[in-house]
Amino acid sequence: MYGAIEAGGTKFVCAVSDEKFNIVKRVSFPTVYPLETLKSVFDFFDSYGDLKAIGIGSFGPIDINIKSPQYGYVTSTPKVDWRDFNFLGEMKAHYDMPIGWTTDVNAACLGEYELGSAIEDSSCIYLTIGTGIGGGAIFNGEFVEGFGHPEMGHILVKRHPDDDFSGWCPYHGDCLEGLAAGPSIEKRYGIKAQELEPGHRVWNYIAYYIAQGLVDYTLVLRPEKLILGGGVMKQSHILELIKREFITLLADYVKIPPIDEYIVTPSLGDNAGVIGGLILAKKKWEADR
Ligand code: ADP
Ligand code: ZN
Repeated sequence: MYGAIEAGGTKFVCAVSDEKFNIVKRVSFPTVYPLETLKSVFDFFDSYGDLKAIGIGSFGPIDINIKSPQYGYVTSTPKVDWRDFNFLGEMKAHYDMPIGWTTDVNAACLGEYELGSAIEDSSCIYLTIGTGIGGGAIFNGEFVEGFGHPEMGHILVKRHPDDDFSGWCPYHGDCLEGLAAGPSIEKRYGIKAQELEPGHRVWNYIAYYIAQGLVDYTLVLRPEKLILGGGVMKQSHILELIKREFITLLADYVKIPPIDEYIVTPSLGDNAGVIGGLILAKKKWEADR
């Protein structure tokens, strides 16, 4: 059996599966203090004696650099209780088995790459547009990372000429996340994103900003697929707006796959992260053998 943790800033999802990644049991609980949250994680996995490995996809930023003394830590997160928490270390202290460690978006990217909408591709990017914006990339089966993991949500974008919102990123103000993540909508209008009608002008702003991000990722990495997930993408009408803005902004400069195959939503839906975690567990188990 394999285990997975999708560690989000709001909630944790834990799951166990058989060898083929069929989920046998899945639980979810709120993210509270780190050790209290891990107690719930341990309570869940402890009851599965035949667990071989666990894959963790965590909110971040996290340290994924094996050479770093803080490898396995959650680092500069706005969630102060979790800052500098040795997540992987605490897991390893409790479980004597291979434990895979990556970002939440890398895990979702892996799920989609192996078993979802990028199953036919050898490269893809997964972007979540939710409480924050984050992206993960896989090229030829490997996560794209170096000194650290990508932070695709914090790139700088051009302002929509009609948008006067100052942005809410605590680091950059009007970076992509500051202008286009879910809370930016609430901060502009005082009501939740899900309560705004599809015809509202804010969706044009959001699509304009997300499309700029996708153009940048396209130009830097030239992936075969861009997969858009997260709560904001539940507004299914914005996918078409994003594609339209993307085509305008790219201006035919480089060749891309047919647009409807290039910019897509996750075919594993909300399960992408958990399934990716299970696959990561298997990969780690095989690597450590
Ligand atoms: P998280 O990023 O915390 O893991 P989500 O991906 O669900 O969680 O993103 C939450 C954000 O998505 C919130 O800002 C919320 O307002 C927004 N959101 C959730 N559902 C919708 C919806 N149907 N339409 C637009 N925005 C939504
Ligand atoms: Zn930022």
